[in-house]
Amino acid sequence: MNRNLEILISDLRVIAQLRRVAAVLNWDQETYMPPKGAEARADQISLIMSMSHARFTGPEFRRSLAELVDLPSGKVLDGGLPPHQVRMLETTWWDWRRANALPVEFVGELVRLTSEAQNVWEQARHTSDFNLLAPYLEKIISMKREEADYLGYEDQPYDALLENYEPGMTTRELTALFESLRTPLVNLVERIRDTDTPDHREILAGDYDESDQWKFGMDVLYDMGYDLTRGRQDRSAHPFTTDFHPSDVRITTYLDRHDITQGIFSTIHEGGHALYQQALNDQYFGTPLCEPISLGIHESQSRLWENYVGHSRPFWTCYYPRLQERFTDQLGKVTLDEFYSAINMVTPSLIRVEADEVTYNLHIMLRFELEQAFINDHAAVNDLPALWNEGMEKYLGITPENDADGILQDIHWSMGGIGYFPTYILGNLYGRQFYEAANNQIDDLEDRIARGDLKTLREWLRENIHQVGRARTADELVQDVTGSPLSAEPFIDYLQAKYGELYTI
Ligand code: ZN
Repeated sequence: MNRNLEILISDLRVIAQLRRVAAVLNWDQETYMPPKGAEARADQISLIMSMSHARFTGPEFRRSLAELVDLPSGKVLDGGLPPHQVRMLETTWWDWRRANALPVEFVGELVRLTSEAQNVWEQARHTSDFNLLAPYLEKIISMKREEADYLGYEDQPYDALLENYEPGMTTRELTALFESLRTPLVNLVERIRDTDTPDHREILAGDYDESDQWKFGMDVLYDMGYDLTRGRQDRSAHPFTTDFHPSDVRITTYLDRHDITQGIFSTIHEGGHALYQQALNDQYFGTPLCEPISLGIHESQSRLWENYVGHSRPFWTCYYPRLQERFTDQLGKVTLDEFYSAINMVTPSLIRVEADEVTYNLHIMLRFELEQAFINDHAAVNDLPALWNEGMEKYLGITPENDADGILQDIHWSMGGIGYFPTYILGNLYGRQFYEAANNQIDDLEDRIARGDLKTLREWLRENIHQVGRARTADELVQDVTGSPLSAEPFIDYLQAKYGELYTI
């Protein structure tokens, strides 16, 4: 290998290792750390992160990169490199340019502001008092606009923020995509509401032993192909996936004694994320070739497993008898059809994280519109609660009674995570396109799922999606794997077919 490339890759590995050290500290903080460790832990994590940032933006790294890439333009200098190395360098430069675009003092100030704002958000939500958060949100929004200016954009400031999570995506493209999704979704929700179907989720009510819930989840993870010699599951208040290397990818789940669906679906969801991380090509560890493409593509893997497999009839044909066996008292008299329809109830609700797979997307569209309003169009922060409530009425036909169940429900904005929400819809859309490609290419995929053979699907995902890393962009990957560009159509068709049958509409 080219000597300069070797030096660059070894630099990248050091930076990646530092970030993973911080990830271990963070994982511990969310799972086992005693409460009084919080302050010292925050110092430890921020020390490691500033070391990795300093290394990535420092003069040494700049010199290594300049040997291989024309720094002003990002053009790779050696025309003879194989395509995957060219892509690796282009992507490294892209990350490097963005990391360098933000002045160190600016980053420090934003970190301080958002960590304070998160505490204030918790209090504001608790007391349902938007006025507490408003001045912080105002500062965060103004700093995020500044961030967009530092990062640069062609069309509108929001584009620069979107790219923090979904490289290559633009506001214009998203707007068109969401436009094609909105009317069919709103209509579907209305048609479902008109059937006046009573809420039959209560047939699942009961007291479910947590250790039995845990064992059921572990069985499903095992069948999915989650490798427990290279990962583990723990419990945490908010489920997440974290990776230290493809050889150590951890997930957490949340169990609720009185709601069995929480644990099952959070386990399958995080399992989908974990399969992606475990299957990245560790030969390239430290470089973009061993990194997930984007948050939208990551979310496509969790949603594919959680919704297109985990909420499907074939899946429960195999797993429902197993679940009933563990919970005879609670589910012994509930039929498969009743269970399937209970886990797929569509009900407009106020809280995004509790929403079903149909209404969920409308919650996201509302956030996407508000983010554009305050980033691009300078909407006043004090007008946001009213805009929120109008949007809920327009899309879901319900209005929150207070801001805790409205604009204050998500932590994202107080963390500075503006431009993040759209990746949830992208995950649903990419995921549906990938699932259908798998279904076309694998013989009898759904029969296999109904027999508990989940590994054939896992293997297909590994080969076609996971191993690719950032050697392809999200656009390219979708085109490669499905033969079509990103589109809302397969997702709409899927919802209409599935819920048409469930609600006989
Ligand atoms: Zn997720």
